[in-house]
Amino acid sequence: MDRKFDIVIIGSGFGGLMCASVLGKHGFKVALLEMAESYGGNLQNFVRDGLVFNTGLHYIGALEEGQVLNKIFKYLGLMDRLEFEMLDPECFDRIIIADRTYCCASGFENYAQRLLSYFPEEQEAINNYMSLIRDVWAKNPFLNFREIDPNFDYSMSFSNTGLMDAINSLTTNEELKAVLLSNNGLYAGVPGRTPFYVHALINGLFIQSAFNVKGGSARLADAFVSIIKEQGGSVFTGKKVQAITSKDLKAISALTADGDEFFAEAFYSTIHPAEAIKLFDKGVFRKPFVQRIEKMANTIGSFVLYVTLRKGVFEHIKSNIYYSKTQDVWGAVYKPEEWPKSVMMYTTEDKGLPGFAESATIITFMHYSEVAQWEDKQKRRQDGSYEAFKEERSARLFAMIEERFKGFKAASVSWFSSTPLTYFDYTGSPEGSMYGLAKDYKSGFGSYLPVTTRVSNFFITGQSVGVHGVMGVAMNSIVAASKLLDINELLKEIEGS
Ligand SMILES: Cc1cc2nc3c(=O)[nH]c(=O)nc-3n(C[C@H](O)[C@H](O)[C@H](O)COP(=O)(O)OP(=O)(O)OC[C@H]3O[C@@H](n4cnc5c(N)ncnc54)[C@H](O)[C@@H]3O)c2cc1C
Repeated sequence: MDRKFDIVIIGSGFGGLMCASVLGKHGFKVALLEMAESYGGNLQNFVRDGLVFNTGLHYIGALEEGQVLNKIFKYLGLMDRLEFEMLDPECFDRIIIADRTYCCASGFENYAQRLLSYFPEEQEAINNYMSLIRDVWAKNPFLNFREIDPNFDYSMSFSNTGLMDAINSLTTNEELKAVLLSNNGLYAGVPGRTPFYVHALINGLFIQSAFNVKGGSARLADAFVSIIKEQGGSVFTGKKVQAITSKDLKAISALTADGDEFFAEAFYSTIHPAEAIKLFDKGVFRKPFVQRIEKMANTIGSFVLYVTLRKGVFEHIKSNIYYSKTQDVWGAVYKPEEWPKSVMMYTTEDKGLPGFAESATIITFMHYSEVAQWEDKQKRRQDGSYEAFKEERSARLFAMIEERFKGFKAASVSWFSSTPLTYFDYTGSPEGSMYGLAKDYKSGFGSYLPVTTRVSNFFITGQSVGVHGVMGVAMNSIVAASKLLDINELLKEIEGS
C-alpha cells in the first residue's frame, strides 16, 4: 500500500474529520489515522438493547439557515447527508434547581423574554447579560467570517475575564445566577478558573438554535468519512500513532503501533497536546513548552448512566435537562458525599410510540482520582470492585433523578454506566477528561494554545486548542487548516455556502 500522503491527520474525532474534509476539498491527499477500531472519537455511538446511545455529542447549536454552524456544515457537505431534529424552541434547555423549573427559549430575544418572565425585577441584569454574550460573538472574526490579517493572533479574540466576575457584575440575585450558570456541564465550568468567553460562546451557540443529529452522533462521523473518501482521502482505523520521526524540526513520518509508517508533507494532531508532543524524540520541543503543557489542568471526566426504558411509560422530553439539587450548580466541584450535585439528562423518543421515551442518558462529573485505582484493565476485571463502584454510583444517580422524575427507576428496564476510565480507554483522553485542556482566565497561555509548533510542518488542533464542542472544534479546524490555505479565501468560501 502507498503510504505517502500530502497530509497525515492523527485522530478521527470531529477535529480530525473536519480538518481532513476541508483540506481534502482543496486537493490535498489526506490520511486520517485513528487508534480505535471505529472512527469518530466523541461522535461514536453504541447499541444496547437495540437502541442507539451517544458516547459524547448529543446536541448542536446555531444550525438554522444563516447561522454559523449551518454555513460550516453546508460548506462541508454535511447538511445534505444528515437529518437534524430541533429541540423544543420554547424550552431547548429545561433547568431544574431544587423544585423550581425554568425553560430556555431559542433565539436571543425569546431567551431574554423568557428569563424576564421568571425574573421581572432583573431586566437590567438580563439585558446586560445578553449584551455581554452578543459582544463575545460579535468580536470573534471567525464566527462572523470577517477578513483577517493572516498573522492575526487568534488568542486576541478571547478576553481574559473570569466567568464569575462577569456574572457577579450583573446581579446579586443568586437564583438568576444559578439559572445562567446551570448548563456549565457543557464546559465543565469551575468558578475560579473558567473564562467568560467559554460560557458566552457555548451558551450563545445554543441560544440561537438547538438540534440533535437524527439517528445518533455517529451519523455525523459516517457522513464525514464518506465525504473524505469521495475526495480521495483515506481513513485508517486500528492505527495508533506512537511516534513521529523528524529531522531539523520537520516531521517526516508517523509510526503506528502495528509497525506501519505513514509519510507526509504536513502532520496534524487532534489528540490531547500532552500526548501529541510525546510522539516526538526528547529535545524536539523545548523543555519550558513541554512543562507548560504538562502542567495545564484537564477538564474533569464524566460518569454517564445509559438507561433503557420500558415502552410507553416515561414521557419523552424534547429538552435537555440540567438538574441541580441546590443553587450551587457547579457539579464539577464536589465533595465525595455531595456527589452527584448536578446532572445533564436527555431522552430519546420511541418512534413507534411518539411522546414516550425509549432511553435516557444521564451525565454527571467524576474526578479521575475516584477511578484511578482501576486504571490497569486486568485489575479492573479481577475482584468485581470496579463493577460494585459503578453500581453504587448508578444507584445514587437514580436516586437523584427519582426526586424530580417520579417513576423513572420503575420505568428503567436495564442500564449500564461509563466512567472517566471508559473515555481514557476509548479516546485516549488523559484522566478521561471530557473536553481536554481546561481554559483558565488567569493564565494567558491557558486560554489558547497556538496551532503552530516549533516543528514547522506539525500542527495541533482539536478540542484542547481554543474552545471544545462541535462549534469550538470547527473554529479550531478552520484556523488549523488555514496554515496550508489562505484564511480569507477559506472564510469567504464558507460564508458563501
Ligand atoms: C459526555 C460528553 C458529552 C458531550 N456533549 C456535547 C454536545 O452535546 N455538544 C457539543 O458540541 N459537544 C459535546 N461534547 C464535546 C465534543 O464531543 C468534543 O469537544 C469533540 O467531539 C472533540 O473532538 P476532537 O476531535 O477534538 O477529539 P476526540 O473526539 O477526542 O477525538 C480524538 C481522536 O483521537 C484518537 N486518538 C487518540 N490518540 C491517538 C493516537 N495516538 N493515534 C491515533 N488516534 C488517536 C481517539 O481515539 C479519538 O478518536 C461532549 C463530550 C462528552 C465527553
